Amino acid sequence: MAEEKDPEVHEIVLEPDAELRFEVESKLDTITLELKVGLAEIFGTELVKGKPYTFTTGAKLAVFTWQGCTLELRGKRNLCYIAKETPMMFYLNCHACLEQLRMKAETESEVKRGPITMVVGPTDVGKSTVSRILLNYAVRMGRAPVYVDLDIGQGQISIPGAIGAILVERPADVEEGFPHNAPLVYHYGHTSMDKNHQTFNLLVNKMAEVVHERLQTNRKSNISGIIINTCGWVKGEGYRHLTHAAQAFEVDIILVLDQEKLYNELVRDMPNFVKVVLLPKSGGVVERTKKFRMNSRDARVREYFYGGKTPLHPHSFDVKWSDLRVYKIGAPPLPDSCMPLGMKAEDNMTKLVAVQPGPNLLHHILAVSFASSTDDDVITTNIAGYICVTNVDVENQTLTVLSPQPRPLPDTLLILSDVQFMDSH
Ligand code: ADP
Repeated sequence: MAEEKDPEVHEIVLEPDAELRFEVESKLDTITLELKVGLAEIFGTELVKGKPYTFTTGAKLAVFTWQGCTLELRGKRNLCYIAKETPMMFYLNCHACLEQLRMKAETESEVKRGPITMVVGPTDVGKSTVSRILLNYAVRMGRAPVYVDLDIGQGQISIPGAIGAILVERPADVEEGFPHNAPLVYHYGHTSMDKNHQTFNLLVNKMAEVVHERLQTNRKSNISGIIINTCGWVKGEGYRHLTHAAQAFEVDIILVLDQEKLYNELVRDMPNFVKVVLLPKSGGVVERTKKFRMNSRDARVREYFYGGKTPLHPHSFDVKWSDLRVYKIGAPPLPDSCMPLGMKAEDNMTKLVAVQPGPNLLHHILAVSFASSTDDDVITTNIAGYICVTNVDVENQTLTVLSPQPRPLPDTLLILSDVQFMDSH
């Protein structure tokens, strides 16, 4: 008698240039994939034949194959489908153009830098995904580009409310993304740019300056260039933030996903030497609801403290209110008439203001600054990481904090974030 097959195991054959798209929706479900025959990749990372990859809630992915492949999928099949039309050829062409510019930079006698590329577009068009694909293709060619993430809503490199940069030397892990070794992180403290435009621009300037400086000392990365991922706010002030970032980073190429209007505006407003390219979005990019976005922010913070596939073990300890030095960025706006002579109300937005520790800090995230005193320029000093206030004891005037590191030094300078996290661990 023929052996009965497990109904949850499916063999899927993909033709060349096709992709299998899938989502894991329910908390109880997981999908495990294994490449059986041929070659395949997930957002530019090659799959290892015979290795099972497991995906849990919230995963929205595509396995693409240039050559054709056979996959084994374990789990519910109802949220999977095969797409034969993908924009991967456009993305590969972009990569080939970037690679040519890198080769040009490499062969020129004086040290020239490689391409600086910014990926823009409205929300949910695949900006992060295209950034990841381009970074992965670059490292697969032996390059070491810098990834800059200005999307404070998702905060891929650190947590939401921060902008970050990492050196990418290896392809992203299929399940966990790029390793975040020694990231350069600046604390902004909100998940939306309209909360404090001045500070956001200040941090983008600083990030650009420091990344450029570091590239000067690393020839390989300097030739590899930078890929910058941005926020999905592309209208009005959001658009001005994009053009500001383009100027600060001295971008050479802007990849516009999906939106012709934005493409035309950028062609009109960017200097001639900036190449603006319109790219189609993938039909596989899934629109995320507000709730889903909130959940993924929360998941990102949880992962920051507790890890993902590789678990982390954060520390929890009490600190006296009197031992803390907490600040926030931006004083409440005053009318210009109340400001000292020569100052505008908006100057207040880049001021450091002392915060009295107390119940107001409960569940808030605090950035641990590398600045040692308020004499330093604290706002534009990068941060070591984040801690979270999990309990406030008013009677004993202490806070309980969750921290990736054991007890921070007593004179640590902390900066309050708007972002909150309920630690249910
Ligand atoms: P953006 O950065 O523009 O907000 P993302 O790149 O984060 O968009 O993509 C939104 C979601 O769609 C992500 O969860 C991503 O994994 C998923 N996604 C992107 N491309 C595909 C695809 N081809 N098939 C299935 N899911 C995809």
